[in-house]
Amino acid sequence: MSSDAALSGQKITVLGAGMVGVCTALELQRRGAVVTLVDRGAPGQETSFGNAGVMARSSLIPMNNPSMLAALPRMLRNKSAALRYDPLFLARNAVWVAQFLANARRSRFLETATALDQLIRLSIDRHLHLLAEHGLNGHLSDRGWVFLYRQLAGFESGAANRAVMADHDVPTEILDQSALRDLEPGLAPIFPKALWVKGSYTVNNPGAVVSGYAQAFARMGGTIVQEQAVTITEAEDQVTLHLTDAPEIVSDQIAICLGPWAKPFLEASGFRVRMGFERGYHRHFTGNRDDGKAPQLGRPVYDTAGGYVLSPMQAGLRLSTGVELADCEAPRNTRQIEQAEQAARQAIDLGARTDDTTWLGRRPTFPDSRPAIGMAPGSRRVALGIGHQHIGFTTGAGTAVMLAEIMSGRPCPIDAAPFRTDRYIRRK
Ligand SMILES: Cc1cc2nc3c(=O)[nH]c(=O)nc-3n(C[C@H](O)[C@H](O)[C@H](O)COP(=O)(O)OP(=O)(O)OC[C@H]3O[C@@H](n4cnc5c(N)ncnc54)[C@H](O)[C@@H]3O)c2cc1C
Repeated sequence: MSSDAALSGQKITVLGAGMVGVCTALELQRRGAVVTLVDRGAPGQETSFGNAGVMARSSLIPMNNPSMLAALPRMLRNKSAALRYDPLFLARNAVWVAQFLANARRSRFLETATALDQLIRLSIDRHLHLLAEHGLNGHLSDRGWVFLYRQLAGFESGAANRAVMADHDVPTEILDQSALRDLEPGLAPIFPKALWVKGSYTVNNPGAVVSGYAQAFARMGGTIVQEQAVTITEAEDQVTLHLTDAPEIVSDQIAICLGPWAKPFLEASGFRVRMGFERGYHRHFTGNRDDGKAPQLGRPVYDTAGGYVLSPMQAGLRLSTGVELADCEAPRNTRQIEQAEQAARQAIDLGARTDDTTWLGRRPTFPDSRPAIGMAPGSRRVALGIGHQHIGFTTGAGTAVMLAEIMSGRPCPIDAAPFRTDRYIRRK
C-alpha cells in the first residue's frame, strides 16, 4: 500500500500502544498520515504483553456459544477453572450479562463466528506480512495449537463447535492418545482425545512483537509520546487530546485503542459504554528450559477440562487462565491460577516458577463478543478500535487495516457492519 491522498499529511493521534494501537499507527503511517502514538507506558506492556500468543483460525468461536449455555449450571457453582465471577460484578452489570447470554443463542453465535472469521483471516495475513517486513519472524511458529480432552464426553460436547470450524474451513486433525504422544511427548497420557488446529500461528514473546512493531513505526518517522491521557474534546475542524502532565495534542483525527481502559476514558469524554471484563492471569515455569533437552511442548495446548492454556515462550512455559468476571481494577484473586497450576502439573512437568508475581490482564468484551471498529457514534474525527476479548493480539492487525480504511473514507476489505460502534456505545 502506498501513500494515500485522503490521509496524506493529516495529523492523526493514536491513543493506546497495545497491539491494536501500534498496528493502527503503522497502517495510518503507511498511508501517509503524520502519526503520534500516545501511551502512559512503553508500547506493548499491558494486555498485549501477557497473553498466550496464539493467532488461530479456531478463535472464531467466542466464549458465549451454545455449548457454554449447556455448561452454565456447572459454571455457576463458581468453582470451575474455566470461569470464576464476582457476584457483585454480575449484579452491577446485569444488562451486560443478559445480553452476553442472549448472544450465545445459535443464530447470533453463527453471525459472530462468521464476522470474527473474516477479521481473523485478514489479521493473520497482515501479521505474517508485518512480522516478515520488520524482521520479527524469529518469534513466529506455524505449528498450530492443540485442544486437549481428559474425557471422551468432553470431546463429544465440542462436536457442534468443531462443525462450525469445519464450515469455515479451519484446518484441524483429531488425535487419539497415541497420535498425541507422537506430537507432544512431554504430555502425560491423561488425554484420550485432542484436536490439533493447523494453519495457525503462535509467537514466543507477545510483548516483544508489539514493541518490535512500535520500534519500526518510530524508525519510519512516527512519534511516540509517553503520557497519561484524560479526555478528548471534538470540534468542527479538530480533535483535542488532554493529557495529565503535558500540553494537549490537537489533530485532524484520533483513534482510541485503549483496550479495557477505553470504557473509563470514553465515559469521561461523553460516551456510555457497555463493556465487560474477562480477566485472566499468567505465571511462568522453567518447564521446557532444561538446557540441551528438547522442548517439552512444541506448541500451545488448551486443557479444556483444566481450564488453562500452556504456551512455550522465551520466558519458559506460560500458564494462562480462563475467565474471571470482575471489575477492571478489582483486587487480584489467585485461586483460579492456583487451580490451573494444579491441573497443569497433572499434564506436564512444569518445573519451578520463574516469576514471583502473578500477572493479571483484562479482556474487554462487548455482549456479542465482537470488537467495535469504526467512527465513534455521531463523530467524524474520533475512531474506535476496542473490545477485542480473547483475540486482540491476533485481531489487532486486521482492526488496524479496517480503521485506516475507514479513517480514509474508503470501504473496508471485509464487511464492517458486524463491528459497528453504536451496538453498545452511545453519546450521553
Ligand atoms: C490471559 C490472556 C490470554 C490471552 N491470550 C490471547 C491469545 O492467545 N491470542 C490473542 O489474540 N489474544 C489473546 N488475549 C487477548 C489480547 O491480549 C488482547 O485482546 C489484546 O492484547 C488487546 O490489545 P489492545 O491494544 O486492545 O489493549 P492493551 O494491550 O491493553 O493496550 C491498551 C494500552 O492503553 C494504554 N492506556 C490505558 N489507559 C491509558 C491512558 N489513560 N492514557 C494513556 N495510555 C493508556 C495502556 O498502557 C496499554 O498500553 C489474551 C488476553 C488475556 C488476558
